[in-house]
Amino acid sequence: MPSVYIKTYGCQMNERDSEAVAAQLMAKGYTLAPSEAVADVILLNTCSVRDFAEQKALNKMVNIAAETRRNRPEAVLGFMGCMAQSRGQELIDRLPDVDLVLGTQKFHRAADYLGEILAGRRDKIVDVAAEQGSEATIREHLLNGSAKKTVTAFVSIMQGCNQYCTFCIVPYTRGEERSRGIPDIVAECRQLVSQGVKEITLLGQIVTSYGKRTISEKDGKSAFVQLLDAVQEIKGLERIRFTSPHPKGYGDDLIEAYARLPKLVESAHLPVQSGSDRVLKLMHRGYTRARYVGIIEKLRRARPEIGISTDIIVGFPGETGDDFEQTLSLAHEVEFDQAYIFKYSQRRDTPAAEMPGQVPQKVREERNKRLLEVINEIAGRKFNTFIGRQMQILVEGPSKKNPARMTGRTRCNKIVVFDGSERHRGQLMDVKITRAGSFTLYGDPAILD
Ligand code: SF4
Repeated sequence: MPSVYIKTYGCQMNERDSEAVAAQLMAKGYTLAPSEAVADVILLNTCSVRDFAEQKALNKMVNIAAETRRNRPEAVLGFMGCMAQSRGQELIDRLPDVDLVLGTQKFHRAADYLGEILAGRRDKIVDVAAEQGSEATIREHLLNGSAKKTVTAFVSIMQGCNQYCTFCIVPYTRGEERSRGIPDIVAECRQLVSQGVKEITLLGQIVTSYGKRTISEKDGKSAFVQLLDAVQEIKGLERIRFTSPHPKGYGDDLIEAYARLPKLVESAHLPVQSGSDRVLKLMHRGYTRARYVGIIEKLRRARPEIGISTDIIVGFPGETGDDFEQTLSLAHEVEFDQAYIFKYSQRRDTPAAEMPGQVPQKVREERNKRLLEVINEIAGRKFNTFIGRQMQILVEGPSKKNPARMTGRTRCNKIVVFDGSERHRGQLMDVKITRAGSFTLYGDPAILD
């Protein structure tokens, strides 16, 4: 059987989709190739959120095509994911060496289509159509692909987004919101736990909108909180996370869930995007700065230890110096534990791309630098407060930077590196924090049991 290599660009949703495609192909007998240089099938799972990500994937495919067509002309080349969805046939017109273009509702068709191409029954395939029920097809995991125990897993609970933020291409590449059923998701989580998984992250573009149109409120609880309640009941599961929520979705039922559900960790990623109400309105975010700050206050009251991270865009069209100052002041006011800062990237067919007042690249870069300095300074100060404390971590595996050491994650989503060994993988353990680096904590091995 052929071997496949999948290269993934972009977000956790893409990582999860690639994992499911790889698992589906392995179930059909494919092996996973260690690199593109030896693979019979090479798939690029693409991201469209920024222009840079698209250009990277396009350039990569140009290089792969040049190499494979010279040395292995029979290799099958394909694009999947967001850029495949938004560009479709255009990708083959531009790069004729590409054999397959698979949209975001078609990941589960990869095995069939590749089979047809490899058997010579079809030459080129482009499928970017919508498909009813596709939100429930990302379910296979690669837990058995590695000899090591997998401790954490992502479970896709929904696809798409109806928010239409003016800068964002996602509603056009991922389609309308579509949610899986609660029993279906719980069954997948149970299966993962039975295979040794201790922590599950519920995943979707806008998870707080989960089930809005298909599952009615019950006892004042939204569909998403009902799902959290159901996952909480799974025996053997230790921790629940979710990403990405929308601040609009933080109703009192969700805040109350933080106070009530012990498995729901003290961590929230709440994309704010800007500290200026004027810019938030231009972005079509659907909340004000005051509402956002109010949610953080409520979350901190419910769980004083909660770690808060965010996404911020600098240089959105029309963002003035004063608007940017308001973002800086929000960063000081909220004191984020971590923030992912993005320089605004013009995406074709999005309303913001046509807005007046596009901010010059140089200004975007300056604002990015200034904000980063503030975020890093605050985070550094906050990370230092953990030194000397005892914290519970879930040990995930060897550190990426230094495989001789192990890493775990605190409930508030801080990575802790310590001198452990494979026997600690999957354990919940307390470590004493001895040192803080940039966005990493170091634990004392002396108090390991
Ligand atoms: S909520 Fe806004 S930023 Fe997030 S995926 Fe939807 S449109 Fe994009």
